[in-house]
Amino acid sequence: MTEQTLESLLQNRLPSIDFSMESNDLKSFGQDWTRFHQPNATVVFFPNNTEEIQAIVQLANELDAVVVPSGGRTGYSGGAVATMGEWVISLVRLNQISDFNDIDQTVKVGAGVITEQLQHFAKEQGLFYPVDFASSGSSHIGGNIATNAGGIRVLRYGLTRDYILGLTVVTGRGDVIELNKGLVKNASGLDLRHLMIGSEGILGIITEAEIKLINQAPNQSVMLLALSSLEAVMAVFADARTTLNLSSFEFFSDRSLQKVMAHRNFSNPFEDIHPFYVLLEFDENEMAAMQVFERGMEAMHVTDGIIAQSLDQAEQLWQYREGISESIAHHTPYKNDISVKISQVPKFMNQLEEVLSIEYPDFETIWFGHIGDGNLHLNILKPQNMSTTVFKARCEQVNAHVYGLIQKFGGSISAEHGVGLLKKPFLGYTRSETEIQLIQQIKRVFDPNNIVNRGKVVD
Ligand SMILES: Cc1cc2nc3c(=O)[nH]c(=O)nc-3n(C[C@H](O)[C@H](O)[C@H](O)COP(=O)(O)OP(=O)(O)OC[C@H]3O[C@@H](n4cnc5c(N)ncnc54)[C@H](O)[C@@H]3O)c2cc1C
Repeated sequence: MTEQTLESLLQNRLPSIDFSMESNDLKSFGQDWTRFHQPNATVVFFPNNTEEIQAIVQLANELDAVVVPSGGRTGYSGGAVATMGEWVISLVRLNQISDFNDIDQTVKVGAGVITEQLQHFAKEQGLFYPVDFASSGSSHIGGNIATNAGGIRVLRYGLTRDYILGLTVVTGRGDVIELNKGLVKNASGLDLRHLMIGSEGILGIITEAEIKLINQAPNQSVMLLALSSLEAVMAVFADARTTLNLSSFEFFSDRSLQKVMAHRNFSNPFEDIHPFYVLLEFDENEMAAMQVFERGMEAMHVTDGIIAQSLDQAEQLWQYREGISESIAHHTPYKNDISVKISQVPKFMNQLEEVLSIEYPDFETIWFGHIGDGNLHLNILKPQNMSTTVFKARCEQVNAHVYGLIQKFGGSISAEHGVGLLKKPFLGYTRSETEIQLIQQIKRVFDPNNIVNRGKVVD
């Protein structure tokens, strides 16, 4: 079908729905934060509500067009990219927050509400939406639900899944379903809501969610500790976890710190260079924090430390951790978002370091992550003079070693970023053949014509 024919067909069949076939829109809505795929969308739709999305999906089924649900496009797995002429459905206009109920402590949000917008809304009601990460100023709630996003406070508050009480979804077949309807308790059979959470848009399009808010947290303190070794990380974690009421325990290497300092023009928070750092956020308790610091110094795990004395300083300390992804973005990083059980972290990291020194001797590697959840972000930076294609192929070769190790430890090749296109060839390192077949069969039930996110996660 030519561009003109499609344009007039869409005007004719979907007269009230805005769409664009402009090359700039096709490019920017055809990709996410990964830079390994060439965007190649045919059209981008900007529907206003569930009914319009249903109409697009029904027409796509009729014409065998593939649709890509598109949120804030901050994803790291290529889940929202359109590489083979797909129709992109942007959720950007479903951005209303409504129906706040202070007895239920719930609120309805359109899939296109930006994560930070919901955080602010909760605060205005005297409540708290704790899911947070460096991209929360751009990512959408719909995208967060589709990836079951985690972030910096999972340790205490859990993942996006823990806040979803209801969902409205347009399935790949074009049905509209309302799941769980805001109930706290509902033991009436399979909870399809949980199947949708983390489904990366392969079953349907989430259009609205009912979200649980919680009481505001007590005042928080932030402490940045410099550490002598990888072994020190978990030793300090074990102590901090029993002594403090922790909300976050984040880890980064000195190379990560150097990248942020260079990118944001920050000075070094410490006088000396140290190999590793951890950032702790916890309920205000300076005496307990000093105990963790002093015990760490005595054990020679901690080599220096700073406790923020003001909100501004706390924010500044957070920036050393939150600025890492942005500061390495221009290096086209190959991201490994991996997890093992928390107790396995030290042993796993030591073995991983050995693998990296053998397999990546000539590459710059940047470590950071939500170590309190057993989740590490291992970023391999592309050498300037290497093409993206060669670089990706090289990283994928090394994956056999890195992911083989993860498999040995019973870990996951994707802790929170999802599988999408980028990690699909490696799913078998984490999920059994039987599990993968079941996922394929479940997709067929919701999406018999393979219309939504075809080729993502599983075939
Ligand atoms: C700087 C930075 C830091 C980050 N830190 C974290 C972190 O700490 N923790 C974390 O979990 N992630 C993190 N991410 C990754 C990313 O922000 C999350 O995965 C986020 O949840 C993606 O939301 P999005 O709206 O941008 O989704 P998109 O990238 O637009 O889409 C992600 C996937 O969800 C699907 N999708 C989107 N909207 C819908 C919908 N309404 N219905 C069905 N499917 C849909 C897409 O098709 C795609 O498969 C980070 C990203 C960046 C750039």
